[in-house]
Amino acid sequence: MRLILLGPPGAGKGTQAQLLMKRYGIPQLSTGDMLRASVKAGTSLGVEVKSIMESGALVPDDLIVRLISDRLCDSDCLNGFILDGFPRTEAQATSLDQMLSDRGISLDCVVSITVDQRALVDRIVGRFTCKSCGIGYHETLNRPRVEGVCDACGGKEFFRRDDDKAETVMARLTAYIQQTAPIIPYYKEKGRFLEVNGMGEIEVVQELIVNDLEGRSK
Ligand code: ADP
Ligand code: ADP
Ligand code: ZN
Repeated sequence: MRLILLGPPGAGKGTQAQLLMKRYGIPQLSTGDMLRASVKAGTSLGVEVKSIMESGALVPDDLIVRLISDRLCDSDCLNGFILDGFPRTEAQATSLDQMLSDRGISLDCVVSITVDQRALVDRIVGRFTCKSCGIGYHETLNRPRVEGVCDACGGKEFFRRDDDKAETVMARLTAYIQQTAPIIPYYKEKGRFLEVNGMGEIEVVQELIVNDLEGRSK
């Protein structure tokens, strides 16, 4: 199964990707996570993108395309993958088409998650993540079952992203509206496209996606 998850920052792409990853045994390819790992490791890419990410702007297309193109060659992507946060511009969408056709593969579905703008801001400013396994939580909307302990791995340390501040959220939403939303009509026309209401509970949203992917309707 090869999927793209589209949606504004805070829509729940990462949360849904992690559930889909478990269900289908395919990796989540999050360009945001890859970039944050480079920043943390202090690689030359990390140094180049750090301030751009903190500002809420998008990182240059050529850097991102190289990152994904390399990652798609890894053996764990052979049976499929979930693209989370890529593509985010028309140029990235065109490059992805080329990468897929070079490899003789195609997408099964593009899933676009929609959420009210106010809810997006709330979701982003309350978000925190398990340091050891990367699972996402929320201060009020999605807390670990046992206070201070990760449901998935038992980890006890969590972090907040540097760019998850009220000041940066508007810049990120603007980048989404101006640079990413314009690729939606392209995918709507191109193949299987699913628009999902992301306002429901996490499990409800997951069910909407899975039912569609598995050809069931409610
Ligand atoms: P994205 O990857 O699209 O930026 P995340 O998956 O990180 O979004 O979700 C943003 C925040 O909202 C996280 O704190 C997550 O726990 C929470 N969240 C995700 N989906 C939902 C949902 N359906 N209802 C309530 N909170 C959610
Ligand atoms: P969110 O989960 O809030 O949607 P991400 O973790 O996907 O955010 O991305 C965080 C930041 O990383 C973005 O604001 C941007 O600076 C950079 N980034 C991630 N993916 C891309 C991409 N495909 N193109 C350009 N920049 C990206
Ligand atoms: Zn964990």
